[in-house]
Amino acid sequence: MPELPEVETIRRDLEKFLIGKKVEKIRVEDSKVVIGSKKTWEKALLDKELEQIQRRGKLLAFLFTGDVYILIHLKMTGQLIYQQKSHLVAGGHPFSRKSQEEAIGGSLPNKFSRLIIEFNGGKLFFNDIRRFGYAKLTDDKGWEKAKEKFGLEPLTKNFKLKDFKALFTNRKAPIKAVLLNQSLIAGLGNIYVDESLFFSGIDPRRKAFKLKDKEKDRLFQVIVKVLKQAISKRGTTFSNYRDSQGEKGNFSSQLKVYGREGEKCFKCNGLVEKIKVAGRGTHFCPKCQK
Ligand SMILES: [Zn+2]
Repeated sequence: MPELPEVETIRRDLEKFLIGKKVEKIRVEDSKVVIGSKKTWEKALLDKELEQIQRRGKLLAFLFTGDVYILIHLKMTGQLIYQQKSHLVAGGHPFSRKSQEEAIGGSLPNKFSRLIIEFNGGKLFFNDIRRFGYAKLTDDKGWEKAKEKFGLEPLTKNFKLKDFKALFTNRKAPIKAVLLNQSLIAGLGNIYVDESLFFSGIDPRRKAFKLKDKEKDRLFQVIVKVLKQAISKRGTTFSNYRDSQGEKGNFSSQLKVYGREGEKCFKCNGLVEKIKVAGRGTHFCPKCQK
């Protein structure tokens, strides 16, 4: 699943191409993934101009003139692809690693295309292989409400140490589970939680409320640093992520524990282990993380 750095990379790339473009035609191909009828979509969007693309956690919002918003969550296997003549801007989960064509499920549109929005100049495809993602229409009020479901947003000025520390009070869940909980802190997934806990020297199984003050300080700083670095590298390359230029992100070479089980820890030369915490595969170094 794309996490904050990957979704932010898609957002920035699509903004470069789509801002100021007008909707000319809409195709709704899947009523599970795309909420609302074709008529509703047409009525809301035809002739509307895209003004902005915003993000909260891993959720994207496309803002159009006339107080119309599209909310898109890619979840596990969603993709957004913008096609302008022969140029493709693709982001999300690649269906295959063999070629660009196969990564987006074949020539467009294809059987995975759930929503197609034709702009003057190009087409935006929302593809989703396993159909966990969604696209829905809303307005300013709806977007504000959707945003309220998320917790602290890292990389904004509202991400404050005091509020971060408050997340841990009385929380007996493992620290890993707390960091994955989108209603407490938004945008982190398995990769960036494992990496952040490694850099902080914290065992992912530790009960959140037992963390020392100093450890919370360090974790707070590390999360910001790890996310910023990942965005600067256009996200992480692994089996199911490809960024919106159709290129693999290149943060993977920087990963210290994620996907490195059985390999040597860069700090202590011990072995990185993979265990299950909060139901998720969790990578850590038992010597460096206490
Ligand atoms: Zn180590």
